Amino acid sequence: MQKNKKSFIVRFFLLPAVYYLLSTVLLNGCATAPLRTGLGNIPAYNIGGTTYLPLVSLCQQGDINWDYDTFTRSVTLKKGLHRINLRVGEDMIIVDGKIHNLSSPVDMYQGTVVVPLKFKERYLDVLFGEIKPGYAKGSRAPICLRKVVIDAGHGGNDPGAIGRTGLREKDVNLDIAKRLAKLLRDQGVTVVMTRSTDKFIPLSRRVDIANNSNAELFISIHSNANRVRGLNGFEVYYVSPNTGDDRRALAAARNARLNLDRNYFASDSMNLRATLWDMIYACGRAESITLARSICRSIDREMQTRVLGVKGANFYVLKGVRSPAVLIEIGFVSNPNEERLLKNSYYRQQVTEAIAAGIANYSQDYAAMEASQ
Ligand SMILES: [Zn+2]
Repeated sequence: MQKNKKSFIVRFFLLPAVYYLLSTVLLNGCATAPLRTGLGNIPAYNIGGTTYLPLVSLCQQGDINWDYDTFTRSVTLKKGLHRINLRVGEDMIIVDGKIHNLSSPVDMYQGTVVVPLKFKERYLDVLFGEIKPGYAKGSRAPICLRKVVIDAGHGGNDPGAIGRTGLREKDVNLDIAKRLAKLLRDQGVTVVMTRSTDKFIPLSRRVDIANNSNAELFISIHSNANRVRGLNGFEVYYVSPNTGDDRRALAAARNARLNLDRNYFASDSMNLRATLWDMIYACGRAESITLARSICRSIDREMQTRVLGVKGANFYVLKGVRSPAVLIEIGFVSNPNEERLLKNSYYRQQVTEAIAAGIANYSQDYAAMEASQ
């Protein structure tokens, strides 16, 4: 009993206090500490080194019937012929009438019952059918944004990169940009496009559009190319800290893009990238990184596509543009497999939906942060 009492105190008073302090210190006052590596729209939490998931979300996603008794803090899960009983604070559960033990107890976090990831894998997935990562249809996070600028890279006499079978970057960019615009507009977001047809738009004009639009985000869509045909993947760029030294900044940018084939990037040159990135000013940088990460996570979660990740480049910034901005490289038209995928309208739609989900998640976090300030 003595031991139980002690572990009870540790579990319910000391550990939450430690987590609270840690999350406050580490996240600089941010209210929640989710590991953003959950299952689709289900967040994951690290509690004492164990990954926990909110039970109600798992049940919603897995279509599992759940019943919570607030008095005894016990939960009954039912689906098909199987039934699981569990209780907050207990590592003992009853599965179809038989006692099983979990390595970590069922817990409460932020007012909701959470279960160890292992419980999901060993019991929920096995008895009730696997709860897969990804967003359940219709349960995507809504986009909390008013206005977004979508920039389809290149256009007109500037084709951008060209694949071996003739796929032109400007066409892929425009199609993805239009699909993204539609998805955002469907959610009530006002979208400004720097171009909606196959025409050449000078970079200065794109900058002006972004500057004059008073939008909350700037999303530039590009497709990649590399002399190494095997190279493939999805990546997102943001502007990294201003060194205040243009020469060093340019050198860093060159290093970041060292493997680029100059022939491919005759039009998609350093200047283009520099100009786009110049549009991002320092205050928007943190949000740009968060947005870039959110988009990459979403692609990683929802697609088979290799994610090369979030990358920064050092450029001096252009004052006046207030919105966070990212440059997305959808894939490599120089890679035969990715060129084939990028030609496929189903694939384009999947990529676009994953990008939109990443933007939505970003906007949710951003809205929550705004509200807590
Ligand atoms: Zn490009």
